[in-house]
Amino acid sequence: MKFKKLIIQGFKSFVDKTVIDFPDGITCIVGPNGSGKSNILDAIRWILGEQNPKELRGSDMDDIIFAGSEKRSQSNVASVTLVISDISEELAGKWGSFSEIEISRKYYRDGEREYFINNKRCKLKDIREIFFDTGLGARSISIIEQGKVEKIISASPEEIRVFFDEAAGITRFKEKKKDAEKR
Ligand code: ATP
Ligand code: MG
Repeated sequence: MKFKKLIIQGFKSFVDKTVIDFPDGITCIVGPNGSGKSNILDAIRWILGEQNPKELRGSDMDDIIFAGSEKRSQSNVASVTLVISDISEELAGKWGSFSEIEISRKYYRDGEREYFINNKRCKLKDIREIFFDTGLGARSISIIEQGKVEKIISASPEEIRVFFDEAAGITRFKEKKKDAEKR
């Protein structure tokens, strides 16, 4: 599984459609303070399924929508699309694609939410399921932000367990068990 492209529009400081390509090798994002580097990571965590606005450095979900500036009026919808290549056969079969999958998430100012996989409407759960046990979840340790190292060091045993479950590949089964218990 490889990130190929991220498309952001109306998300935080990215008012206009912005396409970020991830070619083979290492991609570095550089820029002055406040230019939006962390906002790109927030967009990635959001499309991977993050639901808590505080984890996205806001106080409520509206904070992810472009809030307007002197020259531009505010946006009414935040939209993030992630294109992933080198996907498993199982995933390709499930979502009717060959080697790529395109995931989109939209959040409207009136509170409406939309989720798509390969342009088909889906639930957030379907998106999150794609990343179970891949090490790529919204809260996985594949994303280490400022302050995260300290957080890991001072995490409770229960919180540490979540990292181990993910690394050991059992998150998927735990989620299925939780689902079954709800029924
Ligand atoms: P640093 O190098 O200091 O870490 P950075 O490049 O990571 O900076 P970000 O934190 O990504 O910068 O971007 C912060 C900028 O994004 C601020 O100028 C802030 O006003 C802007 N911003 C955040 N949310 C919104 C929003 N909803 N609408 C418009 N602008 C926003
Ligand atoms: Mg930053």
